[in-house]
Amino acid sequence: MSDQLKDTYDAVIVGGGAAGLNGALMLARSRRSVAVIDAGAPRNAPAAAVHGLLARDGTAPGELLERGRAEVRGYGGYVAAGEVICAWRDGDAFAVGLADGRAVRARRILVAAGLVDELPDIPGLARRWGRDVVHCPYCHGWEVRDAAIGVVATGPMAVHQALMFRQLSADVVLLSHDQPAPAGERAEQLAARGIRVVDGAVAAIEVAEDRIAGLRMSDGRLVARDVVAVATRMRARAGFLAGLGLHPAAHPSGMGEHIPAEPDGRTAVDGVWAAGNTTDLAAQVGAAAAAGAAAGAGINADLITEDTRRAVEAYRDPFPAGTEAHLCEQAAGAARHGLEDATRPDGPGIAAGTEHA
Ligand SMILES: Cc1cc2nc3c(=O)[nH]c(=O)nc-3n(C[C@H](O)[C@H](O)[C@H](O)COP(=O)(O)OP(=O)(O)OC[C@H]3O[C@@H](n4cnc5c(N)ncnc54)[C@H](O)[C@@H]3O)c2cc1C
Repeated sequence: MSDQLKDTYDAVIVGGGAAGLNGALMLARSRRSVAVIDAGAPRNAPAAAVHGLLARDGTAPGELLERGRAEVRGYGGYVAAGEVICAWRDGDAFAVGLADGRAVRARRILVAAGLVDELPDIPGLARRWGRDVVHCPYCHGWEVRDAAIGVVATGPMAVHQALMFRQLSADVVLLSHDQPAPAGERAEQLAARGIRVVDGAVAAIEVAEDRIAGLRMSDGRLVARDVVAVATRMRARAGFLAGLGLHPAAHPSGMGEHIPAEPDGRTAVDGVWAAGNTTDLAAQVGAAAAAGAAAGAGINADLITEDTRRAVEAYRDPFPAGTEAHLCEQAAGAARHGLEDATRPDGPGIAAGTEHA
């Protein structure tokens, strides 16, 4: 097990969440040297448990990642605490720079830095995030079943989100907040499912005894609720990639920005891969881990192709032009120094001649 960051690796992985650690696991098990640089702020950190994850449902997020780090280290992978702030090309490889001044070189980069959830700017909301302010019916839906749920509309998915939470509770209210009140077919769907619409802006989340009491409207009304559901704007953590010419792009869902990538994780920049929430805004832990594993396997295959190409070149031409010229110069140099026999099979050999050069 390695215990300090080396200068160079086959792969450096930016981010040690589910995606990054599973990528590292695949690479380390393939006998690739791999370093994970992790800033230690996974997206689901505020949540008490990870749900919807087969065989690990209910595990605390920190515990899941601790197990993952131990698995990666068990195969010789290195997991370092640190924040990558920049990346650049370095000859035929890459380098990343850390906030603490260190730099690491790598043949490939896997970006698994996750995303930032931008919450609606409603006083009191951020403090409850991941507890009784929720976003995802698959992450916390069971835990809030039968509760009085208020869905705050912040974008085009609001009606959809209200219908999703209606599957979990019969008491769902949609607060139109800063969106137009639903009309037409959407209004009919809400009415048919018994979802009341409350018009007007939400001014604050009211809390009593460490629980949500309700939503205070700008006209002073209190809409009593136990749980608030919101959609966040999701923004890939990717600013450190600018030096490689890789920039976040608008996600087709309209819900944020991501680093576009192929299904196997390849990005528009050869040698740079992405997995997890950085590229797939909707990925839960299982999907992020799976994408990390696919990218790790893809990087290994890409390196095998490169290693094999180089091996074939060396096999076909053990003395490429540059090397041959160098050897000739050494032999001539030896002759100039009166060591004519230096390169003969029974002579002292090239290394001895080099020592004297
Ligand atoms: C409140 C909440 C609850 C959730 N609950 C569930 C749930 O129950 N079940 C479920 O399946 N999903 C859940 N999710 C979704 C889950 O968080 C994501 O699917 C998962 O975190 C994605 O994994 P990831 O590896 O892509 O990113 P992350 O887990 O966010 O990991 C990214 C890592 O990269 C690090 N990083 C970022 N930038 C840098 C940098 N520049 N240098 C170095 N490191 C960096 C971060 O600090 C972080 O450790 C929840 C999300 C939220 C917000």
